[in-house]
Amino acid sequence: MKNIILFGPPGSGKGTQAEKLAERFNLLHISTGDMFRYEIKHDTPLGKKAKSYMDKGELVPDEVTIEMLRERVKKATGVDGIIFDGFPRNKAQAEALDELMHDLESPISGLILLDVSEDEIVKRILKRGESSGRADDRDESIIRNRIEVFRKQTAPVFSYYDKKGLAVKVNGLGGIDEIAGRLASAVEKL
Ligand code: ADP
Repeated sequence: MKNIILFGPPGSGKGTQAEKLAERFNLLHISTGDMFRYEIKHDTPLGKKAKSYMDKGELVPDEVTIEMLRERVKKATGVDGIIFDGFPRNKAQAEALDELMHDLESPISGLILLDVSEDEIVKRILKRGESSGRADDRDESIIRNRIEVFRKQTAPVFSYYDKKGLAVKVNGLGGIDEIAGRLASAVEKL
């Protein structure tokens, strides 16, 4: 089994690239952001709770997020692994994920950082906001807050896996297919 964490700041292209990798390597693509947006769209209690954090660019609390992720992972069948997109986003989530995958006897194979500069991601997110319908993509102050949250809370997840010898960096600048090629080579090596 190949269980990959696709890691990077908001707007680094994780969603687009995770979809491609999922298809190429027969992986289940789990995006916690997409799962929350689904709940919001269906106006569920979880969706209502998540929205209040997402609208500010803050992280949804761990207990809700981890439980939702756990249930999804346990239901995975007929795939050669999982690609995690947008999870883990802090050290507590990384520890919870390691514990879950250890219990399932299917540990994390590696983390791949999509490396993109801050100026580039703000540009990309604002552009995506013109068509995505995502409120958190339209307001520059919310975008800046998400980047701040990434720096303070999420970036340590890279060192967490780096210390285990499981983290690699891939240049996230270039054309979509060019980046997909770089990521595929990185996945093959994990
Ligand atoms: P992006 O990476 O562009 O910010 P996502 O769809 O991954 O987009 O995340 C959107 C929002 O969803 C985040 O700002 C956060 O509020 C919430 N979210 C997604 N994943 C998590 C997570 N693992 N933990 C807490 N909040 C999350």
